[in-house]
Amino acid sequence: MVKLHEYQSKTIFARHAIPIPSGKVASNADEARQIAAQMGKKVVIKAQVLVGGRGKAGGIKVARTPDEAEQIADRILAMRIKDLPVRKVLVDEAINIAKEIYLGVVIDRAAKCATMMSSAAGGVEIEEVARTTPEKIVRVQIDPAYGLLDYQARELAFGIGIAKPLVRDFIAIASNLYRVFLETDASLAEINPLVVTAENTLIAADGKIVVDDNALFRHSYLEELRDVDEETSAEREARKAGLSYVKLDGNIGCMVNGAGLAMATMDVIKFYGGEPANFLDIGGGAKADKVKTALEIILSDSNVKCVLFNIFGGITRGDEVARGIVDGLKEVRTRVPMVARIVGTNAEEGRKILADANMITAETLEEGAQKAVAAARQVK
Ligand code: GDP
Ligand code: MN
Repeated sequence: MVKLHEYQSKTIFARHAIPIPSGKVASNADEARQIAAQMGKKVVIKAQVLVGGRGKAGGIKVARTPDEAEQIADRILAMRIKDLPVRKVLVDEAINIAKEIYLGVVIDRAAKCATMMSSAAGGVEIEEVARTTPEKIVRVQIDPAYGLLDYQARELAFGIGIAKPLVRDFIAIASNLYRVFLETDASLAEINPLVVTAENTLIAADGKIVVDDNALFRHSYLEELRDVDEETSAEREARKAGLSYVKLDGNIGCMVNGAGLAMATMDVIKFYGGEPANFLDIGGGAKADKVKTALEIILSDSNVKCVLFNIFGGITRGDEVARGIVDGLKEVRTRVPMVARIVGTNAEEGRKILADANMITAETLEEGAQKAVAAARQVK
């Protein structure tokens, strides 16, 4: 998942004829001052961090003069918002807001298609609107063969009471946003708020695009936009080692070969009352160095009280994987209990190797998950 910064998303919007305020990015207060001076009008200084709620956190402030822009930029660049350091600010021409609207496209997995949503309750996070006043969200499902149809765009407009003279512009923005979504292979493209200005025009005041990792090879320029400073070190190490890793909140670390098997493993852990600490697919092979990296990543999470290995021996034989695990374990010093379930080709040999290395072994996933849950409970 590559999240784009507001200024990057808005640049892509502009290329697709979605109106955005004029603006430029600054990395220090002096630059912010110069940009404000060049623009010669009121500006907004906006922290560029990959989280929502920057406004509430004090990361968005209006500056009337270049001096003020410098002072505010200086303050915002010294901030951390939701634990992320602010490294850049966007200096945007300030706009006169009459109304804030939400407009966004996401992949709707249940409906198996993209869904576009609009809401008159813009400016706040859409998840919040969905929770408190779901009736304020209008949704249309987009058939990939037809794209966003005109009547659907009108439904989104009329459903949130867009004023007649703005309907045509709104429809153009909606169809352009859908094009952005398609062309960047996004899993999310949203404008929040889409502002109705006091002058009665529409303009995208904020933008967010999340690109699917699996599509990055089609968009090298998007890969370059990846902000490695915003990744946690575990995520960065996993990406470099070619591991799929997602941190979760539980205490049972999971080391699994295969994405589907990893999902099943998490389900079974939960079924027996445990909570997985991560999703991790070490992929095929499972050689010692990969196991070692994966284990280091899992153990870097201090919540982890136990690690469950769930390995399917196929082309890579079970005993080979077991040796990889044992070699990997030799290099990672830890007292966290390890449970291993191994099946498939040469599973018995594999289990023997692991048992000799003092790992708790299991023959079935049920047994492995129950042992892992019990082991995690014992550790205080
Ligand atoms: P977020 O809080 O991280 O989603 O950041 P946004 O870019 O959505 O900004 C939050 C809020 O700041 C918006 O909902 C607006 O109310 C306000 N805001 C942002 N840009 C401007 C601007 O140019 N002028 C004015 N007056 N308010 C702005
Ligand atoms: Mn926003």
